[in-house]
Amino acid sequence: MTLRAPARQPLEGAALRAGLVRDGLLVETGVPGLVARTAAYEAVVSGIDHLVTEAFAHLAPGYLHFPPVLARTAFRRTGYLESFPDLMGSVHVFVGGDEEHRELLRRSGGDERWEEVLEPSQVVLVPAACHALYPLLAGRLPAGGAAYEVRADCFRHEPSDDPARLQSFRMHEVVVLGSPAQAEAHRAAGVELAVGLLEPLGLDVAVVPANDPFFGRAGKVLARGQRDEGLKVEVVTTITSGRSTAVASGNCHRDHFGSTFAIEQYDGSTAHSACVGFGVDRVSLALVSVHGTDLSGWPAGVRALLGL
Ligand code: 5GP
Ligand code: ZN
Repeated sequence: MTLRAPARQPLEGAALRAGLVRDGLLVETGVPGLVARTAAYEAVVSGIDHLVTEAFAHLAPGYLHFPPVLARTAFRRTGYLESFPDLMGSVHVFVGGDEEHRELLRRSGGDERWEEVLEPSQVVLVPAACHALYPLLAGRLPAGGAAYEVRADCFRHEPSDDPARLQSFRMHEVVVLGSPAQAEAHRAAGVELAVGLLEPLGLDVAVVPANDPFFGRAGKVLARGQRDEGLKVEVVTTITSGRSTAVASGNCHRDHFGSTFAIEQYDGSTAHSACVGFGVDRVSLALVSVHGTDLSGWPAGVRALLGL
């Protein structure tokens, strides 16, 4: 049996996950929040990626598809470690000789801490696609600012049984850098474009004020400030029963990245930035939640939009 619209009753997370696996869209790896994707699932993600590219093509953005790792020095400057230490992931590597190799194998076979025989590498895991962009933009922007379309596999250490909360997921973002007004206008227009892209796919979405999950006691203050100042909004929908999940977000960074990475507007003042990010895996899961796991049974209009 396949899950099918139009019942449109969102399932519990476990039931949605079971259907995705049973009907050949995802394969579980045994690690919570880490899945392998089949060709059928990837066809949906490609369709969504294509729609995002089309929706923002008028900005003529530069395009960068980042690797899943980012220079540790650049990562340190983004402020991610200060705000979200609990979500980060660091890559460690082996640089020893024969003796250390024997020790590594001995430790890795048991319960001992094998990471003590490893060294931190030059890279950490990318937590958000746009964070890999700003370090590359030091210097002066062209007159009229700059727009970039960026993609990356992102990592966040939040193991969960919720199929919509992955440790490794794809993000497709459109970033504008320039004046404060340009950045704010991009966020506003971009969120509207996101809604205009998602609704015709059959998703019931809402735009809501949001905040990032800042760490610790001080984080509560930062989260409240971010929300009060309207710096983050999310486009949410229901993927699993009883909760709404962000499938996209719009973020105003003010001059945070501009001042950190010495990015200047054409007139020499510090650049402001804003990003609109799509969680393409979540959009894909939301579509399965609404239309079912049998892609051939999806409404013809939705299939056409996704190029299925
Ligand atoms: P943000 O930087 O706003 O937290 O994330 C941008 C977008 O990435 C979110 O709106 C969401 O669609 C997606 N995203 C964030 N966390 C996760 C996650 O744990 N799993 C998945 N599949 N997508 C996520
Ligand atoms: Zn971003």
